[in-house]
Amino acid sequence: MKKVILAVLMAALLLSACRSSGNSGAERCVSEDASYEEIYLVLVNKDHILPGDWIQKIELVSDQDPWGNEVKIEKETLEHFNELQSALQEEGVDIRLDSVYRSVDEQVALWKSFEEEYGEDYCEKYLAAPGYSEHHTGLAVDVCMMKDGEAVNDNDAMLAETKLFKKVHKLAPKYGFILRYPEGKEKITGYAYEPWHLRYVGVEAADDIADQGITLEEYLEPINAE
Ligand SMILES: [Zn+2]
Repeated sequence: MKKVILAVLMAALLLSACRSSGNSGAERCVSEDASYEEIYLVLVNKDHILPGDWIQKIELVSDQDPWGNEVKIEKETLEHFNELQSALQEEGVDIRLDSVYRSVDEQVALWKSFEEEYGEDYCEKYLAAPGYSEHHTGLAVDVCMMKDGEAVNDNDAMLAETKLFKKVHKLAPKYGFILRYPEGKEKITGYAYEPWHLRYVGVEAADDIADQGITLEEYLEPINAE
């Protein structure tokens, strides 16, 4: 928590420095600072719906999943994902983008298909109601893995890849990603453990969150309480 307080203090100092310069550039400095936090530290969970004007705040870019389908993802998130992917390849782990940005309509369709395949209980455990999914932000990435030339994205098969995911979770914060739904934090996040679901929050916040072994909810609590 000390680091969070320090970060808030430093941000306050930076803001006051910008304001005290008293020229038109100062305003730009303030708004850029505010929007970075507003975007990359946005909290979307079962209690926090996606901000209504969200899609105007971010830039979505396109990439592909291993099956050649187009996926959309927030621009900075993709840049950092590509770096994480390269770093992991050097360690023999080949992660790819599976499910990334999802519109509210796509979440409705996903819920229906999961309900047919796995049942309602499974949906409640693993899926968010439309509007409450972190995937609407473009900052959340479900990864899949290449194994023997084939992409694996089956949830049970991925849960069995404990060694590979350990490497992913260890390196991810260095590139600004956190394991969003860790084991043992189900009551705080509202979700069962999902080793494949990474969330981009920026390098500084990701480092802090990983160092302290906390969730995004816990990290944002002192900020939200202000
Ligand atoms: Zn996910």
